[in-house]
Amino acid sequence: MTTTELPLVPHWIDGAPYPSAGGRTADVYDPALGIVTKRVALADATEIAAAIASARKAQEQWAELSLARRQSVLFRFRELLEARKPELAEIITAEHGKVLSDALGEISRGQEVVEFACGLAHHLKGEFSEQVSAGVDVHSVRQPLGVVGVISPFNFPAMVPAWFFPIAIAAGNAVVLKPSEKDPSAAIWMAELWREAGLPGGVFTVLNGDKEAVDGLLAHPDVAAISFVGSTPIAKYVYETGAKYGKRVQALGGAKNHMLVLPDADLDLTADAAINAGFGSAGERCMAISVAVVVEPVADALVEKITERMSALRIGDGRRGCDMGPLVTRTHRDKVASYLDIAAEDGATIVVDGRSVRPDGAPEGFWLGPSLIDRVPTGSRVYTEEIFGPVLAVVRVNSYEEGVELINAGSFGNGTAIFTNDGGAARRFQREIKVGMIGVNVPIPVPVATFSFGGWKESMFGDTKAHGAEGVKFFTALKAVTTRWTDPGERATVAASAQGGGINLGFPQND
Ligand code: NAD
Repeated sequence: MTTTELPLVPHWIDGAPYPSAGGRTADVYDPALGIVTKRVALADATEIAAAIASARKAQEQWAELSLARRQSVLFRFRELLEARKPELAEIITAEHGKVLSDALGEISRGQEVVEFACGLAHHLKGEFSEQVSAGVDVHSVRQPLGVVGVISPFNFPAMVPAWFFPIAIAAGNAVVLKPSEKDPSAAIWMAELWREAGLPGGVFTVLNGDKEAVDGLLAHPDVAAISFVGSTPIAKYVYETGAKYGKRVQALGGAKNHMLVLPDADLDLTADAAINAGFGSAGERCMAISVAVVVEPVADALVEKITERMSALRIGDGRRGCDMGPLVTRTHRDKVASYLDIAAEDGATIVVDGRSVRPDGAPEGFWLGPSLIDRVPTGSRVYTEEIFGPVLAVVRVNSYEEGVELINAGSFGNGTAIFTNDGGAARRFQREIKVGMIGVNVPIPVPVATFSFGGWKESMFGDTKAHGAEGVKFFTALKAVTTRWTDPGERATVAASAQGGGINLGFPQND
């Protein structure tokens, strides 16, 4: 099949696939097969304008619907997602490469946010204070922002967009989603599901593309806010550019998550956790553990236990019941593999080298097996850079304090975990560590949807996190209303008050 005969992943505008004018496209791969299976449209200026114009028109009508009507669409979307998520998991596996069970896991975590948004009427309630001055009351309301842009990374094509769009839509906004061009089909599948759930066309738009589409959303005056998730340099760029255009921006960036292992930890539980959090989704998770900081004298024992478990992992095509799939592209696979050379040059010990993996899959797939590197010097790029692959580094330290100092000195602050049986040490860790999401004997501490997700330092730009109460705050504008209605019987008292009747050019005071 020639490139032009491959299926095209279109945009989704006005509640339907949007015919592309034959402009730029990008290749979409099946990473386990190592072949191009589709092309994706890359939006140009006309398509960006059409997407935002449609969203703007739809938003005005959507926000006029009652909360009950809006929530009923959310409920239907939730029911359809629950019934049909295996279809979505197959789409994710075919373009991202993660194994089917993992794809189902990310959908379930996204579904949690849909469920949270099904009860959004509760979270949109404002506040009311009676009689703040004589005859005067104050109340606040949360209103939708308008059109909001969501720009998402390749590694969670369903869950990351779902951190944002259910709350944004339930609150009365219209969403323009710009998914990763590496795995765009999940977004189109979700758009179809929204249509089936009864969402009016234009309230959920998919604008496929690359930097041009991102820049178009950032600069457009009709886009009120941007939720971005991706690597740190792009997160920073989106945050700064969005702010320049006067937008509300939350931009979640990269990570380098450490687990601190104290000598009293249950080493079997810890070794299991290191495997699951280090190599699940081939390490392509922003909450993956990429460094185990082990307080001596247990490092030899822990490295042995992790190594034993690694030999039992099945690497291969995510549709074949394997534990771990391929990396997303050949370029990314080669970049991740290059860190093994850097490790050797920097004097680290390569305990398991994933380059010798024998996968259960097509030889052309983007394979790299799990790798374990011990005694990684903290000046090495293996330690300082986000690798975003199945490479677990071990750094040995001599005390809790040395471990905490190391973690706090890092530039990222997304997630971290402590493994210990000492409650006092765990409590001290929670208080002392400068990271946004903490696990205690839990290696991937992704907060449940009723709490909010987001890191600190270079892992997040902006002060409002994803989903939970912070998500509601991000997608709504707070308005305060001060009201005076007086009963004829009260007029004399009110007139005598500072906020009362009569001419008074002084600044209103409450009494
Ligand atoms: P990426 O930064 O390359 O891409 C993210 C999005 O930005 C995509 O939609 C992409 O099209 C767009 N983009 C890429 N280059 C751009 C540019 N120059 N200008 C404007 N837009 C651009 O990230 P990725 O490789 O897709 O995803 C992996 C990264 O995302 C990792 O760094 C990972 O840690 C991070 N991530 C973070 C979180 C979090 O919650 N903090 C969650 C998931 C992923």
